[in-house]
Amino acid sequence: MDNIRIAEMFNRMARLLEFKGENQFKTRAYTNAARTIKGLDEELQVLHKEAKIEDIPGVGKILKGKIVEMLETGTFESYEKIVEEVPPGIIEIMNIPGIGPKKARLFYEKLGVESVDELKKAAKDHRIRRLPRMGEKQEEKILRSIIRLEEDKDQGRHPLALGMEIAEEIKDELSSCPHIKKVTIAGSLRRKRDTVGDIDLIAISEEPEKAVAFFTNMKNVEEVLESGISEASVLYPENFRVDIRMVRKDDFGSMMQHFTGSKEHNIHLRELALSKGYRLNEYGFTNEGTGNLIPCDQEKSIYEFLGLDHLPPEIREDRGEIEASLRGHLPQLIEKEDIKGDLHVHSNWSDGINTIEELAEAAIQRGYEYIAITDHSQSTVVANGLSEKRLLEHIDAVERINDKCDDISILSGSECDIKTNGKLDYSNDILERLDIVIVAVHAGLEQSRRKMTGRIVSALENEYVDIVAHPTGRKFGKRPPYDVDIETIISVAKDNDKVLEINSSPWRLDLNDINAKKAKENGVMLAINTDTHAIDHFDNIIFGIDVARRAWIEPSDVINTMNLKQLCSRFGISK
Ligand SMILES: [Zn+2]
Ligand SMILES: [Zn+2]
Repeated sequence: MDNIRIAEMFNRMARLLEFKGENQFKTRAYTNAARTIKGLDEELQVLHKEAKIEDIPGVGKILKGKIVEMLETGTFESYEKIVEEVPPGIIEIMNIPGIGPKKARLFYEKLGVESVDELKKAAKDHRIRRLPRMGEKQEEKILRSIIRLEEDKDQGRHPLALGMEIAEEIKDELSSCPHIKKVTIAGSLRRKRDTVGDIDLIAISEEPEKAVAFFTNMKNVEEVLESGISEASVLYPENFRVDIRMVRKDDFGSMMQHFTGSKEHNIHLRELALSKGYRLNEYGFTNEGTGNLIPCDQEKSIYEFLGLDHLPPEIREDRGEIEASLRGHLPQLIEKEDIKGDLHVHSNWSDGINTIEELAEAAIQRGYEYIAITDHSQSTVVANGLSEKRLLEHIDAVERINDKCDDISILSGSECDIKTNGKLDYSNDILERLDIVIVAVHAGLEQSRRKMTGRIVSALENEYVDIVAHPTGRKFGKRPPYDVDIETIISVAKDNDKVLEINSSPWRLDLNDINAKKAKENGVMLAINTDTHAIDHFDNIIFGIDVARRAWIEPSDVINTMNLKQLCSRFGISK
């Protein structure tokens, strides 16, 4: 646990006590302690290790005991007790801007309101305005806050692809600012998380105030949220918050490192620095003995100083990357150039917009050795899925076009539905004729975990199946993953020598980084495919690569880094 989280927990405790009507000295002790903790230079974790928690000024003995309890267990007993006593919806109500513990208590006692939904209804029914010290205006304000909060939940995070697009656009515009030398992306966007909350930028500037003014006046800025001497936050279309920090050239490396994160990764680096007698922050290393500061104008110097490789941003999550680097076992992460072909492509035979010839041409331009045309199967009626008869014609068509093509191999395939009963959408006689069989779930997404898992398992046990596409079915902003036991899928895939897909569509990115890493660790091969429905989609491969890199995946873990000959021998294709 870091300081921020501990301080936040104390603040929550104070609010809960206030809601319960406890005396204000007790609540104030918690809020004061939270403030002190937020202002500490040192991490409590470190102080605890050095047995220095006692030395923190302005925090009482009892609360110090609770800090230790949190560091060791992640929570503290009296907090857990009070959380159990207060209805869970109350905490959400207290978090609505403009409503504190006192008002939450009023609504709870007088109206029996226990959740945000109930509060919204009470406001709509004009029951709030009749309460003591309330009125029409307060009631309207509460309703507006709730509505804004609801909208915010949906729009809080955006797909990586959208974040990258806006960030590149902003970088472009800033490049014409005479007061800015260099702009780079930091934060979760630089780490290529599949969704991003806001965009963090770092810029080198010797005239930070002028640079900030340029930034806040960019053409697409909708609102300036904050504007300081060397930093600013603005709101961009689509509710994208963009933060920028103007830094001196000498600090650029340490700033980049610090603001790229992740928080967990940085905590681990700081511990490592402390073990060498240095404090690390966004300005560089400070010698604990002499107080001398070593600034770092290059990010790699930070890592070098700590005896580490220059860790790729994608794996800076404190998921073992620091240990791996110290042991010299860092993975050689896959790169876009390693990809030799795409095994999940739709043509206008089903719901794609391009002909097979056009797709082949686009793949040649991207330097690919092969593609598999994998149109939908008959059950997917909305996607113009192919009947068995049309699939046989499709196989012939692919073969004909392939014969005319010297520069690329076109494999005949299918994205065959796994029906709700676990049966495949084509008979084995048909599947046997295909070079590549991808299977996928597109319907009956609401099935129970047991049924859904069993359904995919039976597909994996079919001898003609090669790859499971988008194995969890999630779509950003549309639906969460279906309920499936991914560990079982991974282990059955391993037993049957099947491949799991990282689908590169910006709306899917499925498997995600965590599951893809699990697959790799269990010895399952992955395919990084684009699920192309129009030739531009081929370029989405970079987002699949981002996921793979975050999952520590190396070229040898990925089936479509193989050349054509290796691929054919792996899948038993005679080409
Ligand atoms: Zn699909
Ligand atoms: Zn598809």
